[in-house]
Amino acid sequence: MSKTLIIAEHDGQNLNLSTAKCVACAAKIGNDIDVIVMGSGIDGISAQAARIEGVSTVIAIEADDLAQILAVNLAAEVVAMADGYSHIMGPSTTFGRDLMPTIAALLGVNQVSDIAAVTGSHQFQRPIYAGNAVVDVAAPEGVTVVATVRTASWKAAGDGAGATVEARAASSVASDHSRYVSLQSGGGERPDLQTATRVVAGGRALGSEEDFELIYSLADLIGAGAGASRAAVDAGYCPNDMQVGQTGKIISPDLYIAFGISGAIQHITGIKDAGTIVAVNKDTEAPIFEVADIGLAADLFTVIPEMKALLG
Ligand SMILES: Cc1cc2nc3c(=O)[nH]c(=O)nc-3n(C[C@H](O)[C@H](O)[C@H](O)COP(=O)(O)OP(=O)(O)OC[C@H]3O[C@@H](n4cnc5c(N)ncnc54)[C@H](O)[C@@H]3O)c2cc1C
Repeated sequence: MSKTLIIAEHDGQNLNLSTAKCVACAAKIGNDIDVIVMGSGIDGISAQAARIEGVSTVIAIEADDLAQILAVNLAAEVVAMADGYSHIMGPSTTFGRDLMPTIAALLGVNQVSDIAAVTGSHQFQRPIYAGNAVVDVAAPEGVTVVATVRTASWKAAGDGAGATVEARAASSVASDHSRYVSLQSGGGERPDLQTATRVVAGGRALGSEEDFELIYSLADLIGAGAGASRAAVDAGYCPNDMQVGQTGKIISPDLYIAFGISGAIQHITGIKDAGTIVAVNKDTEAPIFEVADIGLAADLFTVIPEMKALLG
C-alpha cells in the first residue's frame, strides 16, 4: 500500500499551518497520510497534527537532539523510518527547503520541488520562470518521492475526526559534525510571513531602516506579518528574511498591502496567490496597479499615519 509521510513544521509550541497545507496536497495523491512530529515536549503539537482532516496516524518522536531545527538530525530520523512510505513531503518554507533536500540526498533520490498541483501519484506541476510557466514533473516510479509542497498553492486541510498518535523512540544518532548554537529570529511576536493571513510590506520608497518602523507599526496594529521588496532588503532597511518574491518568500495571505513597491515581476511572483492585493504608490503608472485589487495613488508617508489613526 502506498503511504505518504509528512514532516510537521512547528516552533516548539504550535504546529505551523504549512503542515495542514502539505496534508491538502498529499490528499490529492490519495495515499494514507502519516505525519511525523519531532522535537521535545511535543504532546500539544502532536495533538494539533492529529486534528488535521485526512491524517491517519501522527508519529511523535520525542528527543532532545530533535528539539532544534537541525536538518542533519531531523533528516536522519526521517530516513530511519522511510521504509514503507512511497512519498515523503514537507513544506517549501525555509524549514522544508533546508530539510527535504537532505532527506532526498540520504535516500539517493532527486527531490521534486514546489508542488503546486498533483496530476497523478508521480506527476506534479510546479511554476517556473518566476511563475510565468508551469512545468509537468514526472517522478520515477519504484523509488521514494521526496518533495516540497508550494504552500502558497494549497488551502490548509480542515479539522478532522482525530488521528491516532503513536509515540516512538528516536532511532537515529545525533550528528557529531553539526551542532546547534543558537537561534536568532526577527519579527518578535509578529505572525510568520509565510503563513500570515495578512501581510504589510514596504519597498525602496521607505528610504531608511528607521522609516521601516511605519511598516512594522501598521503590521502590528492589524496582526499582520511584515514583508519587503528586494530593493528594501538590499538597501539594508530590513532583514532579508522579510523579502517577498522570486528569490524571497512565496506567500499567500488573504490580504497583502504593499507600500512604495513598484511591482517588478520578481516581486509579483511572490504574491500572486494572495487574496486581496492593496497597493499604495505615488506613481499612477506603477506596474503593481495592474495586479492590485485596490490601488491608491498617494504618498505612503501620509497614508500610513492616516490608516494608523483610523485603526487605532
Ligand atoms: C533575478 C532577480 C531576482 C529578484 N528577486 C526579487 C524578489 O524576490 N523580490 C523582489 O521584491 N524583487 C526581486 N528582484 C528585484 C526586482 O526586479 C525589483 O528591482 C525590486 O522588486 C524593486 O523593489 P521596489 O519596488 O521596492 O523598488 P522600486 O522599483 O525602486 O520602486 C519603488 C516604488 O516606490 C514608489 N514610491 C516612491 N516614493 C513613494 C512614496 N513616498 N509613497 C508611495 N510610493 C512611493 C515609486 O513610485 C516606485 O514605484 C529580483 C531581481 C532579479 C534580477
